[in-house]
Amino acid sequence: MLALNRNAAIERLSELLAESRRGVAFTGAGISTESGIPDFRSPGGLWTQNRPIPFDEFVASREARNEAWRRKFAMEDKFQAAKPGRGHRALARLIARGKLSAVITQNIDNLHQLSGIPDEKVIELHGNGSYATCLDCGERYEIEWVRERFHGAGGIAPDCASCSGPVKSATISFGQAMPEGAMRRAEAESLAADLFLAIGSSLVVWPAAGFPALAKRNGARLAIINREATEFDGMADLVVRDDIGDVLAPFVG
Ligand code: NAD
Ligand code: ZN
Repeated sequence: MLALNRNAAIERLSELLAESRRGVAFTGAGISTESGIPDFRSPGGLWTQNRPIPFDEFVASREARNEAWRRKFAMEDKFQAAKPGRGHRALARLIARGKLSAVITQNIDNLHQLSGIPDEKVIELHGNGSYATCLDCGERYEIEWVRERFHGAGGIAPDCASCSGPVKSATISFGQAMPEGAMRRAEAESLAADLFLAIGSSLVVWPAAGFPALAKRNGARLAIINREATEFDGMADLVVRDDIGDVLAPFVG
């Protein structure tokens, strides 16, 4: 494990990319803080303000659903205004150059897609917050549809128009089953990669946090770019504890 200063880190990262035939990136909330979306675990992050609402509570309680949607709409302007940052743009460029085969993300903010990465190369482990679905029949609802009804009813979460089931943003909550297709593809990409870039994740949310170690055990080189230490730093080939945008800026152009 090597913790390097910024210039040396950028140089080492360039070497790792040059030596790699098939890389994969894995991103967490830290890549989107530059875009104005707070992460969970940094000081002042969302975690410090609100306890997450677990899936079973959302399903069981209308009050929990009202609260989940209240929080969602409180954050919505930030999400709507967010534009891809330097980290997103660098990854889009590396995908376009064929250096990375996919981006596995824990994020739900749609910013990888907005940076120009084709949908099929973005593997979303925790879903996507830019639309909603009925948990019972799967019907899709736009966020605006929910917003109008929620505000129209004075802060009551609407139910599905077809089957009266609970309508939830298309994200994965704590305690909710992981999306099988995305998990399978993330595993396949991790096993096929010879370079795994973990970027902006505290690597504590499981099972997503298992992928860097899976890739490493399978022979990939592992680079971790994150301001704070992670429990996987000890097994990494490169650890960069620095700002993601600054470190990845040279890879944008
Ligand atoms: P996390 O909040 O646990 O960790 C983010 C990490 O990024 C922290 O360790 C922090 O030090 C680091 N970081 C933040 N800004 C950085 C920067 N500019 N440069 C370098 N490092 C930076 O995030 P996580 O591991 O992704 O887990 C949080 C969960 O919450 C995820 O599962 C995700 O689904 C969800 N979430 C998503 C978003 C989003 O979509 N943007 C935002 C918040 C939370
Ligand atoms: Zn329904």
